[in-house]
Amino acid sequence: MFELTVLGTSSAMPTPERSLSCIAMRRDGDIFLFDCGEGSQRQMMRFGVSYMKVRAIFITHLHLDHFLGVFGLLETLRLNGRKEKLTIYAPRGAEGVFGRKDFLEIKEIDGKWSEDFGSFTVSSFATKHAGTSFGFSIEEKEKVRFHEEKAKGLGLKGPMFTDIQKKGKLTVAGKVIKLKDVTYTSPGKKIVYSGDSAPCATLAKAAKGADLLIHESTFGSDKIAEAKDTSHSTAEDAATCAKKAGAKKLLLTHFSGRYADTSQLVSEAKKIFPAVEAAKDGVKLVV
Ligand SMILES: [Zn+2]
Ligand SMILES: [Zn+2]
Repeated sequence: MFELTVLGTSSAMPTPERSLSCIAMRRDGDIFLFDCGEGSQRQMMRFGVSYMKVRAIFITHLHLDHFLGVFGLLETLRLNGRKEKLTIYAPRGAEGVFGRKDFLEIKEIDGKWSEDFGSFTVSSFATKHAGTSFGFSIEEKEKVRFHEEKAKGLGLKGPMFTDIQKKGKLTVAGKVIKLKDVTYTSPGKKIVYSGDSAPCATLAKAAKGADLLIHESTFGSDKIAEAKDTSHSTAEDAATCAKKAGAKKLLLTHFSGRYADTSQLVSEAKKIFPAVEAAKDGVKLVV
């Protein structure tokens, strides 16, 4: 289970209602940020996301609207005596941008990268935007679960459940019970974040089977040429990607300031992919 708080949904410039790209994900007590646009730390304060618990920041690309918030956040952490390591994962060139701090580690990543965070992995994939740009896929590992009734029926109780998981089998009342006979695996959840991108095959491939696809939708069908010129997507592009990928749910974000009301974008996307919503600053989701 991942708890998400969308902290910014505007493209390029903030508006009175929308801050710039940033999504906070809470997992196992830590916070992971995906992009960190200007004003992100204040949005964290507003919407109850602890900035002291940020363990890693994933930057999709080095456009200012996606990383300008890192500087203020790092300074606040320094003033608060941050000791625990914070890692920024970002495209090549990030080291020169963010500089050095005792608690800061920069990992410059390439088109295809993946890291294990214990109960889940994060991996990057190339998108079609300006220079080096990525999207990120967050995948929970599959879980071993017990067929409770069957296990209890065979005499398993209390600490035996932990025991059998460690040993793979257990003798109960003279009978050997194998772990695989009383358990099944349930697949983990998958969230895919597009960052900025024109429609592209790597993004649709990465989003395959995602429980949630968070896709940029800078423009509507009234600005198709502008979307092409700036390597961005329309709401219809986002919906087409979600449909191709067989995603379960689509969340639109990164809106141009011209769409104060996102209902046009949602209704355009809905014709292609019905399970769609427009993100709002402060909205919380559990995946
Ligand atoms: Zn952007
Ligand atoms: Zn961009």
